[in-house]
Amino acid sequence: MSEYQSLIFDKSYINGEWVAEYAQTFDVTNPADGSKIGSIYNSGTQLLQKAVDAAHAAFPAWKSKTGKERQAILDKWFELIVANKKAIATIMTLESGKPLTESLGEVDYGASFIQWFGEEAKRVYGDTIPGYTPDRRIVVIRQPVGVVGALTPWNFPLAMITRKVAPALAVGCTVVIRPSELTPFTALALAKLADEAGFPKGVFNMFVNDNAPDSGKLLCESEKVSKISFTGSTRVGQLLVNQSAGTLKKLSLELGGNAPFIVFEDADIDLAVKGAVAAKFRNAGQTCVCVNRFLVHDSVYDEFAEKFTKAVQNLKIGNGLGEGVNIGPLIHARAIASCKDFVADAQAKGGKVLAGGKALNDYFFEPTVIADATPEMKFAQNEIFGPIAPLFRFKTDEEAIAMANDTIFGLASYLYTNNVKRSWRVSEALEYGMVGINEGLISTEVAPFGGIKYSGQGREGSKYGIEDYTEIKYMCIGNV
Ligand code: NAD
Repeated sequence: MSEYQSLIFDKSYINGEWVAEYAQTFDVTNPADGSKIGSIYNSGTQLLQKAVDAAHAAFPAWKSKTGKERQAILDKWFELIVANKKAIATIMTLESGKPLTESLGEVDYGASFIQWFGEEAKRVYGDTIPGYTPDRRIVVIRQPVGVVGALTPWNFPLAMITRKVAPALAVGCTVVIRPSELTPFTALALAKLADEAGFPKGVFNMFVNDNAPDSGKLLCESEKVSKISFTGSTRVGQLLVNQSAGTLKKLSLELGGNAPFIVFEDADIDLAVKGAVAAKFRNAGQTCVCVNRFLVHDSVYDEFAEKFTKAVQNLKIGNGLGEGVNIGPLIHARAIASCKDFVADAQAKGGKVLAGGKALNDYFFEPTVIADATPEMKFAQNEIFGPIAPLFRFKTDEEAIAMANDTIFGLASYLYTNNVKRSWRVSEALEYGMVGINEGLISTEVAPFGGIKYSGQGREGSKYGIEDYTEIKYMCIGNV
């Protein structure tokens, strides 16, 4: 038996038990060749309701523990994940397609949230405010919101879970997680290790099925669930907001992006090329912070295009388990069709393909560079979510800022310049939640990740990420 097989589970983990509602299963396939990896016992809303009930029942005791007690269990979970890094990464590559080196990196990245928020469990500080009359005192405390429903996507099958549940669990919330039906095995491996770490029954629940809409609806409409934390498309995020209106639920939403990457005339072009490859082609372009539009100053456009194209042509495409692979498959056939459509649309409107441009088969799409991109092309306003890099041209800072902000999205943005004043001015003018300055990789557990406009609300990571899982309570002490 391969090492990873001992971490393969095929049922939901609810109230400390491995359970399913139905005898029927659904298949999970490898996006690199369509082969079946395994099947998962399917469930409906009855079991999900049980998960919510269990989390609700477990909440009072969990929130009453000290931060240090909760930290001890989170630390154990962290250590178990790190100890099983290779096995988890293998499962992740099998079901998501991402190169093994990226999966290994994601295990570290995802686990880091558990360690970081475990430490923070002891630091959920409040405030004292001077009284407004001589005999009154004011104290502000933070308390856990209650049961958290976490809905997570396939593109970071581990980190999107830990980024939500680590702060939730650290402050004393209990959780019901519903991972993507495309990547449930990574999620269930995490559940197995959470079980070993010793979370009390009902504190950590992982519900797997292939019916996202019904599951999302139940969690949004349940009065026992206090908060929904979702990562995925803007379309589904909007649906969840509507479904949550009746219960006035708190929501954290990490949604789509349309990241600009601005290369100014004074940029270090080699550094920009390196950052561009990292910020565009990680996970074959399937991340919400992946660059969607390269905006390059007219005077360095040709040099950047030439060096970037050369770097892109050196990327190795193939099965994520293969040696030295940089670009794995896309998640499904719809993603391949969508990439073909973006390229055809750009070519029909005058775009010039400098590298790639084609699907290799039903699973892989070549890393692609398209020059002479214009605002009329589809990718100017729509998220590509694939390995296509369009290069737009600009002449002034004002034009670059206006182009960068000309989108409904506001998640990540990047700029390359050696001018300190420009880096401040442009960063402040960008309507985005995050700005990478001379840096293409910006995600970390110590900083607040999140967006504005149609990219969502709330932040994950850092002290701001903890605030989203707490309620503020003000106590007025009179007659002192
Ligand atoms: P998606 O919204 O279709 O799916 C995301 C998750 O939501 C999946 O687990 C899916 O099963 C579930 N889901 C689908 N319909 C649902 C419903 N009605 N109710 C509840 N859950 C539902 O998105 P996708 O196409 O799988 O993923 C790509 C999108 O996610 C992109 O737009 C990308 O930008 C976004 N994304 C954002 C971030 C971020 O941090 N901001 C991270 C990853 C992905």
